[in-house]
Amino acid sequence: MRIILLGAPGVGKGTQAKLLSEKYSIPHLSTGEMLRDFVTNSDSDLARNIKETIDNGLLIGDDLVIQIVKDRLQRNDCHNGFVLDGFPRTLKQAEMFDDATAISRTQMDSSSEQGKQVTNTGTGLNARHGSNGISGYAESLRSTSSQSAVGEGPDQQLNYAMGLKPEPYNISVINIDIPMEDIIKRISGRFSCKVCGKVYNLNFLPPIKAGICDVCDSVDFTRRKDDSEDVVRNRVLVYMKHTAPVLKYYQNRSNFHNIDGSGSVAMVENRINSQLSNK
Ligand SMILES: [Zn+2]
Repeated sequence: MRIILLGAPGVGKGTQAKLLSEKYSIPHLSTGEMLRDFVTNSDSDLARNIKETIDNGLLIGDDLVIQIVKDRLQRNDCHNGFVLDGFPRTLKQAEMFDDATAISRTQMDSSSEQGKQVTNTGTGLNARHGSNGISGYAESLRSTSSQSAVGEGPDQQLNYAMGLKPEPYNISVINIDIPMEDIIKRISGRFSCKVCGKVYNLNFLPPIKAGICDVCDSVDFTRRKDDSEDVVRNRVLVYMKHTAPVLKYYQNRSNFHNIDGSGSVAMVENRINSQLSNK
């Protein structure tokens, strides 16, 4: 099961990613963790480059993010799939990810339109790029964009032979969707006990006795500065600005699922699972 999980901050994406990871025994991969992991475990110029960029407080460019994601997906634990949490974040990342993992879109666009419902059940990331490590990345990108149909797996070859248009790759894209005002309510309602750290929500999970911590009876509560309404609103707006084009990019694919993110964790989990098993 290969999954891309999208959703604004505060929609419970991390929680759902963890549940999917457990259900399908696939790794839960967030961009931040992949970056840290790569920098810690790789002794390469690229890793040093990235570490320097992070240390200087600069943003990692899309091309570097793609290399790291691609490198991570080639590890053995991704053999049965993965759930990508918060990636791709920009349209450029989504496009580059397609280029790096699937046949070139130019080629598909020149194919017939009639095969849209045919899913690529064949070669996945690992098979397609073999054991190319990070060093083989540029090479595989080049070969991907100039590949002929003969270079693809048997299913792809068959698709081409039949004049069908294959899906770019068999990854399910799930967007957890919550109206912006609800996201703001969720996040800006958060506060926690100053003594024991128990997290509450004014709107969804208040202490049983108002003003008194359920766990330790403390009456001292605190609120993260970046959870204030203005900051949250801005965070969500920034997210939407970058991710709206990503949603548009994916939304017409047969394996795109827009999931209603309202209600409890279990309700959202059920909605996701019924979409995934409906395929
Ligand atoms: Zn407490």
